[in-house]
Amino acid sequence: MSGTVTEIPADSSSDDDLPIDAIRVAASIYLQEVFGYDSFRGPQEKVIERVVTGKDALVLMPTGGGKSLCYQIPGLIREGLTVVVTPTISLMQDQVDALTQAGVAAAALNSSMDPDDRRRVWAKLHAGEIKILYLAPERLLLDGFMSDLEKFSPCLFAIDEAHCISQWGHDFRAEYQQLGVLRRSYPMIPVVALTATADPQTLKDILRVLDMSDEDLFSISMNRPNLRYLVEPKDQPKRQLLRFIKDRHAGEAGIIYCGSRKKVEDTAVWLRKEGIRAVPYHAGMDNQQRSQNQQLFQREEGVVVVATVAFGMGIDKPNVRYVAHLDMPESPQHYSQESGRAGRDGLPAECWLCYGWQDVMMAQRRLAEAEIDQAQKQIRRHQIDAMLAYCETSECRRASLLRFFGEEAHSCSESDQTCDNCSGSIEVTDGTVLAQKLMSAISKTGQRFGKAHVIDVLLGNPTEKVTKFGHDHLSVYGIGTELDEAGWHSVFRQLASRGMVRIDLEGHNGISLDPRCRAVLRGEETFSFRKDRLVKKATRKRRKKKEMGLDAMEASLFERLRQHRLELSRQLEVPPYTIFHDSTLVEMSQLKPQTLSQMAMISGVGQKKLEKWGQGFLDVITA
Ligand code: ADP
Repeated sequence: MSGTVTEIPADSSSDDDLPIDAIRVAASIYLQEVFGYDSFRGPQEKVIERVVTGKDALVLMPTGGGKSLCYQIPGLIREGLTVVVTPTISLMQDQVDALTQAGVAAAALNSSMDPDDRRRVWAKLHAGEIKILYLAPERLLLDGFMSDLEKFSPCLFAIDEAHCISQWGHDFRAEYQQLGVLRRSYPMIPVVALTATADPQTLKDILRVLDMSDEDLFSISMNRPNLRYLVEPKDQPKRQLLRFIKDRHAGEAGIIYCGSRKKVEDTAVWLRKEGIRAVPYHAGMDNQQRSQNQQLFQREEGVVVVATVAFGMGIDKPNVRYVAHLDMPESPQHYSQESGRAGRDGLPAECWLCYGWQDVMMAQRRLAEAEIDQAQKQIRRHQIDAMLAYCETSECRRASLLRFFGEEAHSCSESDQTCDNCSGSIEVTDGTVLAQKLMSAISKTGQRFGKAHVIDVLLGNPTEKVTKFGHDHLSVYGIGTELDEAGWHSVFRQLASRGMVRIDLEGHNGISLDPRCRAVLRGEETFSFRKDRLVKKATRKRRKKKEMGLDAMEASLFERLRQHRLELSRQLEVPPYTIFHDSTLVEMSQLKPQTLSQMAMISGVGQKKLEKWGQGFLDVITA
């Protein structure tokens, strides 16, 4: 498909004499014929125009926003080779598979390939038969590679996961920081950098390293309207998880993140016993088993991966219907990235998080022990606090998450999916008196005891420790019987999430008061308290295919189309979504095309895919 529409010479560096209209026409033809889509999304068209005319771009769009087209279409329009730098090998292969299915001459060069395959790619490069080449940054930086590249007439550099450039980004990679070399070696070739996770500081850093200016930045809101956010306090976490999966996501693909390798293993085994098709993934497993599990997840339907955060970057599966966290993530930035792997296809998906105070303690302890400077510690402390605030907020969760990225004034009302708080499943009451009681108990016991002891005092539990210190004679002894132990834990977490109490990690986890508590303690401010409600059987809502907009007949057709796609993908040994995305199958189930030309109107059905598979899917529909 190399340059069948129009091609702009590789050394075009000025837009003065380039016909913008021709670029627009070419871009929309590629969009429709190769990718099968009707219109551009967000800033795609503007970025494409800019890059085709030889200028740079830094693109910040949420996961699933459609960043790939921002370099794939310019790569097809411009004459020469597009080089895509991407950090993970698995992602490369998926992208190459998907482009190949759409008829684009794409290839990857990486260390995991056998020498014959590598030679074949080199031969094709020399023959000018490759349009888009995926590489890891290490290869680009190999001695002599930059000058070799010249032979293949590079016309565009794309840097995926560009936040790896910045120390502020949460996945900094030293090789990425050297990518400024592209600029110096090929000053006339445009660079497009792309990321789905960058706060303002990270963006600034990327612009600096790549020698770009603010003009090059294209960003849209990080809001993911198709995602629904849910948080539950830990009670029996595995049972809570199982209930969430069985009630709302039976038979669907999901990712479950755990804080440790051992927990990953235990949870996967337990889920399998409970009838869920779960596989583990963590960095301690041997390579073969790990990549087998990853392949199973990518290539089969309805597989659940239980993983540490080692699993993720490069996971491009569009129909992950939920991401669950069994432990609190490190920061809102991590959480956005990890939970953002749900619903890339734009269909409804859920981000479920189960957390407890133990998670906060663990995070604080890891931080106290980390060998990093005070400034970095301060950033990380702030991130833990922000994560805790997300978990404990009684406001809109979407708004709380987006605020961290510097976005104000978003809420669920602008989205397709509401969070648990906005859907009214959480009750908020005036908790000023509760807060005052707990803070008085902390103060009267000397601001040096742990949470459990303070709660014993409030509840009037005559434990050995309580009597030993004479705390059964304090005025606060037994004044908190209106709540049970779990209730007081909740008040405590909510005070901590608003910075009113602190834990002394250097000593024995003693709790102390922060000056920020004064206004509530004196009654000058109120304290709103969210009542934790563990989702009980009677109140649980089952999620139906209806959320995808399908009635019963359509849902059954959707399942048959999905089965057909799975069989085809097994024959071809490619992930099902490189054939058609779920969103395309949903549209087929609704519109039920009867002819190939009707099939061509479905979003996601490009010319090549229509020729190869159109009839097969039509047969399923007409049967
Ligand atoms: P990102 O890299 O931003 O996470 P992708 O580039 O993988 O997102 O795109 C996410 C999904 O959206 C893919 O299935 C892609 O084919 C689809 N997509 C991209 N652009 C469009 C568009 N203009 N119209 C419809 N679907 C699109």
